[in-house]
Amino acid sequence: MKLPRVKLHNQILIGLLLGVFFGAIFSINPHKIVIRTASGEELVSNWSEITFLKDSMPQIVFYSNEQTQIIKFSKGFISSSEHFSRNVLVKYPDGSSKVFYQITAIDKVKTIGVMLKPIGDIFIRLLNMIAIPLVLASLIVGAASLSDLKNVAKIGGKTISFYLMTAIIAITAGLVIANLIQPGHFMPEENKEKLLVAFQEEARSKIEQNVSINVVDFIVNIVPRNPFAAIANGDFLPIVFFSIMIGVFLTQIPQKKSQPVINFFEGISEGLIFMVGKIMYIAPYAVFTLIAATVAEFGFNILQSLLLYTITVIIGLLFITFIEYPTLLKIFTKIKVKDFFSTQKKVIAVAFSTSSSAATLPVTMEICEKNLGVPNKIASFVLPLGTTINMDGTALYQAVAAMFIAQVYGFDLNITQQITIVITAVLAAIGTAPVPGIGLITLIVILRSVGIPEEGIALIIGVDRLLDMCRTVPNVIADSLACVVIAKSEGELGPIKLET
Ligand code: ASP
Repeated sequence: MKLPRVKLHNQILIGLLLGVFFGAIFSINPHKIVIRTASGEELVSNWSEITFLKDSMPQIVFYSNEQTQIIKFSKGFISSSEHFSRNVLVKYPDGSSKVFYQITAIDKVKTIGVMLKPIGDIFIRLLNMIAIPLVLASLIVGAASLSDLKNVAKIGGKTISFYLMTAIIAITAGLVIANLIQPGHFMPEENKEKLLVAFQEEARSKIEQNVSINVVDFIVNIVPRNPFAAIANGDFLPIVFFSIMIGVFLTQIPQKKSQPVINFFEGISEGLIFMVGKIMYIAPYAVFTLIAATVAEFGFNILQSLLLYTITVIIGLLFITFIEYPTLLKIFTKIKVKDFFSTQKKVIAVAFSTSSSAATLPVTMEICEKNLGVPNKIASFVLPLGTTINMDGTALYQAVAAMFIAQVYGFDLNITQQITIVITAVLAAIGTAPVPGIGLITLIVILRSVGIPEEGIALIIGVDRLLDMCRTVPNVIADSLACVVIAKSEGELGPIKLET
């Protein structure tokens, strides 16, 4: 008997679900750690208390359910203390105890759940490998096929306005939800202190990256001094600017000269999209290993102290994905919501498992052109631009996170400060690269703009990985949405093709 063939997007979703189960089954034991010292390593399990000692004086005590905090704290403790004073006292429930002297590392005990991750890493690298040349080639072709500067400005203007609108709605929704639920007012003082200490080192390293948003610098920096340096560094906005300029001005020179160049980039762009189609065959396995590793490694204990905050962000993300976007889809196009989402399955699975809109871009491009009926000249213009400047999920997350941190610190943000959050979050979303974890770093700028202590990011780092996966999903869905909306407004939207 011949078994029915499972469609690729369903295979990917099955990979995702199985990854969750596999990761949960082979999850890292939260009650086991390996303590490494100059004289070797020892497995420590079922401790009741772990006390970090500096010069024999207790510095901080962690309890049995605080594995993540212990590991995070140990990193800063080891790097900032003299080796002779890096000692740890472990107490067990039966009253016995042991001191480990001169510790060099504290780690989780790895399981098969995380060991398969290199397969997923190769998948992400393959997609990232495609993303920059694809943005370059497709934008050159896209801008050239819009034929003149006026057309580019018209579509560019529509695209940017649409993205600004969705970002402002997302941030406002985030602020409203955070004001209604008030997640920061329910955090016990003890949890706050613990999180601030445990994640202080990681917070410091992010703050040291010293990101800032200055509108004038921001605009100036869109123009690359050296486009090859921008390409090498993966600076999306300067690449977008450079590619649009080439595309537009290629149309102004004799066709005999411009056509071979356009054909060349068209060939690259089509070749890359074809390559994505092939790479997607390993997606079910890659997604499986990525999700399994994340679930296996995720410190669920940390989730307990940040549950209300996590739920608040997720409610916001669900709102924009399943209420705002369908509403806009209905207003601006005739596409059925069910059909639109059914074309987005692959995009959602890849965004969720890679946490990167840039890595997802090649897939979004393939789906928009093949399934959503968007012509290449619009998809190749709107999507790279969207991937770069449009991050609704991230913007919403930042609004909630800023409110949460303010609430925990006891700050009452007035309406002017909340409007400042809206403006800074829009700029932050535009100005940052579509790569994992960047939303947490640009959050620092938002906190600074309203005077919330930036060290406060230590409070939320523990769940950032999980929320990064979740926020990347609306980031990419909004790109597909913009694509169909702009195509429709230009009268260029073809029929939708559900995957066969
Ligand atoms: N991971 C997000 C993206 O690539 C950015 C972020 O929120 O950190 O879209």
